[in-house]
Amino acid sequence: MKRILVTGGAGFVGSHLCKKLLEYGNEVICLDNMFTGNKENIKNFLDFKNFEFIRHDVTEPILIEVDEIYNLACPASPIHYQNNPVKTMKTSVLGSINMLDIAKKTKSRILQASTSEIYGDPLEHPQKESYWGNVNTIGFRSCYDEGKRSAETLFFDYHRQHQVNIVIARIFNTYGPRMSFDDGRVVSNFIIQALRSTDITIYGDGMQTRSFCYVNDLVSGLIKLMESKLTGPINLGNPIEFTILELAKIILELTNSKSRIIFKKLPKDDPKIRKPDITKARREISFEPKIELHEGLKLTIEDFKNRL
Ligand code: NAD
Ligand code: UDP
Repeated sequence: MKRILVTGGAGFVGSHLCKKLLEYGNEVICLDNMFTGNKENIKNFLDFKNFEFIRHDVTEPILIEVDEIYNLACPASPIHYQNNPVKTMKTSVLGSINMLDIAKKTKSRILQASTSEIYGDPLEHPQKESYWGNVNTIGFRSCYDEGKRSAETLFFDYHRQHQVNIVIARIFNTYGPRMSFDDGRVVSNFIIQALRSTDITIYGDGMQTRSFCYVNDLVSGLIKLMESKLTGPINLGNPIEFTILELAKIILELTNSKSRIIFKKLPKDDPKIRKPDITKARREISFEPKIELHEGLKLTIEDFKNRL
């Protein structure tokens, strides 16, 4: 049994990760400041003797004796990370420093939840780990993109300078049960709009693309990465690409909804295309997403219906 710290563990991905780690018989410490986290996400674990919740902000130092750290703490949806951009940057930079200091002191292995956003509005397609990206340093998304890029730098510097045992996962758009209703991300927005029979809001012409990964597939990739000896960075995601218009039509069909599709202004710096090249993850950790979009959306829609 390992003692594992999951920062951001009360969030969407973090709560699925805590669940899986508990199922494997580990002791899990979930640390979260509840900015976008939700007690509902972890309420089923609170009675487990192997589960502990600590309300704490990663921008403040803390010392916990652990074997492994998954650093997921950071708001992930554009409306949340743009709500307090200075705080978002601090969360990635100071949060990474504080968690890396724990890893250094306790000699634990630490995984950073990085993101496809570090590729920005990519000029290479699909995106390989070797691509350095096309990122605006001063735009509305920069607090998140540049924060996550700085975090990657810090991880590698702690690794080279202090021999910290690191690994970086570059996560592509992930969806599934327990996504919060109001985080403004495309999958949750469209499902809520379809179930409430309100207009489906497509930003721009809907021809921009994303590749959507079901959360269980992502979580199995994160655990495999932690168990490997790799440093990364490694892309984790589902490489099947859809336009946002296609996604809207699939959700309308699966919900049998009468919602109309309407078109709104495209937010600034919105990436036009995104698709992970997962050759490295396939080769190094046998990562293979299993849940295709229709199936994953059905499970997500069921969860949203139960919570509405
Ligand atoms: P989420 O917003 O549901 O979860 C983030 C969690 O971090 C929340 O519980 C929040 O309260 C917590 N948090 C935020 N700031 C904190 C702070 N300063 N101190 C302590 N806790 C803090 O988002 P998610 O989708 O679960 O994303 C989890 C991680 O994965 C994030 O780091 C995100 O950048 C990364 N990621 C997610 C996706 C995706 O599509 N879901 C894609 C790429 C990367
Ligand atoms: N999007 C949209 N309608 C919405 C929410 C998002 O058309 O109601 C678009 C958004 O402009 C982007 C894509 O869907 O092109 C994915 O957006 P999301 O915020 O989910 O993730 P990210 O842009 O960070 O990949």
